[in-house]
Amino acid sequence: MRIPILDLKAQYAAIKDEVMQAISEVCENQAFALGPAVAEFEENVAAYCNSKHAIGVSSGTDALLVSLMALDVKPGDEVITTPFSFFATAGCVVRVGARPVFVDVDPDFFNIDPAGIEEKITGKTRAIIPVHLFGQLAGMKAIMEIAQQKNLAVIEDAAQAIGASRDGIKAGNFGNCGCFSFYPTKNLGGFGDGGLVTTNTDVLADDIRTLRDHGQKPRYFYKVIGGNFRLDGIQGAVLNVKLKYLDDWNEKRGQNAALYDSLFAGSPVRTPAIDPGNVSIYHQYTITVPERDKLQKYLADNDIGSAVFYPKPLHLQDCFKELGCKEGDMPVAERLCKEVLSLPVYPELLPDEVEYVARTVLKFYGIS
Ligand SMILES: *Cc1c(COP(=O)(O)O)cnc(C)c1O
Repeated sequence: MRIPILDLKAQYAAIKDEVMQAISEVCENQAFALGPAVAEFEENVAAYCNSKHAIGVSSGTDALLVSLMALDVKPGDEVITTPFSFFATAGCVVRVGARPVFVDVDPDFFNIDPAGIEEKITGKTRAIIPVHLFGQLAGMKAIMEIAQQKNLAVIEDAAQAIGASRDGIKAGNFGNCGCFSFYPTKNLGGFGDGGLVTTNTDVLADDIRTLRDHGQKPRYFYKVIGGNFRLDGIQGAVLNVKLKYLDDWNEKRGQNAALYDSLFAGSPVRTPAIDPGNVSIYHQYTITVPERDKLQKYLADNDIGSAVFYPKPLHLQDCFKELGCKEGDMPVAERLCKEVLSLPVYPELLPDEVEYVARTVLKFYGIS
């Protein structure tokens, strides 16, 4: 049995006619940059996320960048974030001239540990960027309490968490804004790059809309310096079709995760812990294991795909040398980078395939 880490072809086959029809409408209209398909998608995704505003942008990375710009985070400012995330979370902070300040993650949930935030706040701290890693929200109640007390902006990096909730509130509604990615491998993936910002603040929504189109308002008159952060019409059309299926897909991921959980019970495999109150969308099903690299090779030899998110924490990346971090600064994130392995959990994966993956993992540890 060959099982990839993700099978986008299976998803496409199930919705091909509907998607092609939507793309063909964009072609008929020749509305490729923003346009009616994007406007319709924004309306639907705002409703889906229970957010007042949704602004489509060119990628999850640009969602973070335009949010930092709109909140006026600038050179000299400090932004508190996690060292255990995709690169863009911290990369965007440096791109606006600010300095990322890392706080280690919680060993159970892999998200920024709220208990470590306060001691890192200085007179220069302007914002916090919690990441909802692998599909479950960070400890937003505690984070928002600190932010309100210290008057800090909060940008949720919800790139891996569309549809996830905490205490019944969906990702993107806790902070000033939420940043989403529609990179093809995300739970809601486009046919290319795409992203979105949600917010419940009218002024912020206005500013982000202006900034995503060079800062022009009205056309060819520039109040501020923005960028080309527009979402393509074709992406809007594809995503609008896929959005209808998202809850169903997320639920199937959850069922696959539950099956893995039961099959791994009592073994050396540590299954993902979900913080009480959280509903995860299982963007990844990430186990922590001894001898991770050997296990990954064993799975590959058995035609099973797996992936390491992430092999190196952000604070130790060469490009952030100037921050002066060293090994040992973020012990939990550093350990996780050596122990995590993400297994196939995509919605089209069948129960007997989950069983085959789990059995193969257990066989590696001598359990049959
Ligand atoms: C994917 C991702 C991003 C960046 O999104 P792109 O659309 O690829 O630019 C940012 N943060 C996290 C946590 C991500 O997983």
